[in-house]
Amino acid sequence: MVDIIQHQDVTAIKGTVTYSSVTLQVYNFIVDGMLIDTNTIQLLDKLIPIYNKYPIDFVVITHAHEDHTGTANWVQNSLEVPIYINQMSIEESKREANYPQYRQLVWGIRKPFEAEPLPDVLQSRNYSWETIHTPGHAQDHMALYNIEKKLLFTGDLFVTPKPKVIMESESIPEMIQSLKKVLTYDFEEVFCCHTGYLPNGRLLLKQKLDYLLDLQENIVNIYQNGMTVGEIDQKLFPNTPPIAPFSRYDWDSRHIVTSVLKDR
Ligand SMILES: [Zn+2]
Repeated sequence: MVDIIQHQDVTAIKGTVTYSSVTLQVYNFIVDGMLIDTNTIQLLDKLIPIYNKYPIDFVVITHAHEDHTGTANWVQNSLEVPIYINQMSIEESKREANYPQYRQLVWGIRKPFEAEPLPDVLQSRNYSWETIHTPGHAQDHMALYNIEKKLLFTGDLFVTPKPKVIMESESIPEMIQSLKKVLTYDFEEVFCCHTGYLPNGRLLLKQKLDYLLDLQENIVNIYQNGMTVGEIDQKLFPNTPPIAPFSRYDWDSRHIVTSVLKDR
């Protein structure tokens, strides 16, 4: 299912995907002739009429995950517009999908596409955009800042204020640095790729930063008192959410602990 929600000149495209008993949301956005991310290939049939209706001059991808690159191949071949992504993901984008099976089941298998390196500053029809490297969720992750309207598009930097599980490839210390970096910009409103429009986005990003800083300090203190990674994980995160076994523990609270301790 796909819903359109208009927030002034930002068109938010809300995709909903259900797999087994799990329902997930992923957004992409059209603003001022720029398509930000391309949602999941599972929803291609529902996205095509939207892509044909709204003006799209070019595409910016926040990071190479399949729920952001799902329809990039279709957009490239059908609309013949350039696609920009972090330089480090250009090669990966050209290759066949290579990610764990549980992600292929939920988000489908994205097709290869050709991308160009994302510049530091972009111009759309009426606006200028600064691209901000914000690793942590993914190494290549970029946020987009609209200079005139003071809007921030955070890709997957926010998603939730209090993460209890992360993927093995994610890093809490890098997320902390990236949250600090975006908070140096002047904005209130945020567009998140999994929770949509957040009018109080600045406050939510600050809450996430505070939560992660507390968590980091806590983990280091407990570790210095002699607990093992497994014991710290049990103490701080006694519950196992369904995503953990479903993903074969690619998503796990333990990765929060290890990523903090690795950074010391
Ligand atoms: Zn992602």
